[in-house]
Amino acid sequence: MSQIFRYLPSVDQVLSSLEAIEDFRDLPRALIKDLVNDFLNVCREEIRSGAITTSEQLDLTALLPRLVAFVRAQSRPHFRRVLNGTGVVIHTNLGRSLLAKSAIKAVAEACGHYSNCEFDLSTGHRGSRYSHVEKILCDITGAEAALVVNNNAAAVFIMLETLAKGREVIVSRGQLVEIGGSFRIPDVMTKSGAILHEVGATNRSHVHDYENAINDETGALMRVHTSNFRVVGFTKEVTLPEMRELGDKYNLPVIEDLGSGSLYSLQGDGLLGEPTVQQTVAQGADVVSFSGDKVLGGPQAGIIVGRKEYIDRIKNNPVNRAMRIDKMTLAALEATLRLYLDMDEARRKVPTLKMITASQEALKSKARRLADAIRHSLGERAVVSMKKGVSRVGGGAFPEYDLPGTMVSIAVKNISVGDLKDALLQTDPPLVARIEDDEFLIDPRTLASTELKMAASALEQAMVSLTEK
Ligand SMILES: *Cc1c(COP(=O)(O)O)cnc(C)c1O
Repeated sequence: MSQIFRYLPSVDQVLSSLEAIEDFRDLPRALIKDLVNDFLNVCREEIRSGAITTSEQLDLTALLPRLVAFVRAQSRPHFRRVLNGTGVVIHTNLGRSLLAKSAIKAVAEACGHYSNCEFDLSTGHRGSRYSHVEKILCDITGAEAALVVNNNAAAVFIMLETLAKGREVIVSRGQLVEIGGSFRIPDVMTKSGAILHEVGATNRSHVHDYENAINDETGALMRVHTSNFRVVGFTKEVTLPEMRELGDKYNLPVIEDLGSGSLYSLQGDGLLGEPTVQQTVAQGADVVSFSGDKVLGGPQAGIIVGRKEYIDRIKNNPVNRAMRIDKMTLAALEATLRLYLDMDEARRKVPTLKMITASQEALKSKARRLADAIRHSLGERAVVSMKKGVSRVGGGAFPEYDLPGTMVSIAVKNISVGDLKDALLQTDPPLVARIEDDEFLIDPRTLASTELKMAASALEQAMVSLTEK
């Protein structure tokens, strides 16, 4: 065995064999060298374990295909594109919303050049970073003023820190939500210095519950959108107009954490039950916060709109500086908001809205194209069929709401659905799919037309890796 080690190619030999490979030209040389060393260590291990027994197996030409695959796999950036075959449109784990084309362009422009990010071109002096989006946010939502922070969690925190620190905030027990990633309203409230005053029961809260709770220590009334769950049956929550009335009677600000916060009314598309930001402002909330990358379909951001006196106080809070959004976000947000100046345009051009409102025919046609592409690449090995199924909006909006569509179901002889799903996470790009009742499904709603062939190719790659095993 020790004889064989002598036939291992040297690092330099291996490196020069890789020089001809186009894809690796842009990789840092030090990275390639490390990977070559790792690869040679794998070979050494295989000699020890008896997987490599002859000198021919160590011939550079024989090793090259594996070597190239190894370097390619190991040198990929950690942050990678994936294909979303889950049908969950706003999938937090997969990066939430995709930006509209105009927003992508604006980001590229903003980060590749200097800009008037915080520079007032009319005076030549320092300007406000928020000026780029404040007016358009007010125009769209009907609010008096607006500001933007890093995400909605930050928005909720700074609203409370500014308006209710050291004072009580009255919230219904049914709205003390946890939204995953360890964001819980009671915890955020504690950290902000506001004191939570819970009222009502889990399923029912009444105006008199709030009214009885108001005392000298009360700093605000708050409503939290129950984003990711629904209370059904014998339920009641106090409405925003009722809350507004109480706020006026006792001179208290009404704060609303809208969660997803849609600017486009999805009611016409049959999605009921979620108020738009415009409605929330019109019904008298003093400050409203919502995410930029949920149903709005823009970049990650926390948007706060409302009455000028409160927004000004939030803007001037020193904590605001720690939540400042960057220029790429601003550029993407402005470009996204501009699409909302014409709601039809928003629906056609904001990918998140487009996917949520896709027609049955469009989804069926996409499923058909996907099924054909998969049949073409897998041939006899797979049974591919189409079936009715449901997608989800995700991102804590329209919880439990079924978006009907057409799924592509794939069954491969002698390969379990679990193994197939796992193997697809290692393809290039990886494909994230779904298993339902032990059936392997791809939901084409969240795949772009240009990704259908890529999904079929991912399945082909997965099959290769599974049959090699
Ligand atoms: C999503 C959500 C948040 C947090 O928003 P991020 O933008 O993810 O920080 C806060 N409150 C509610 C009700 C939500 O749905």
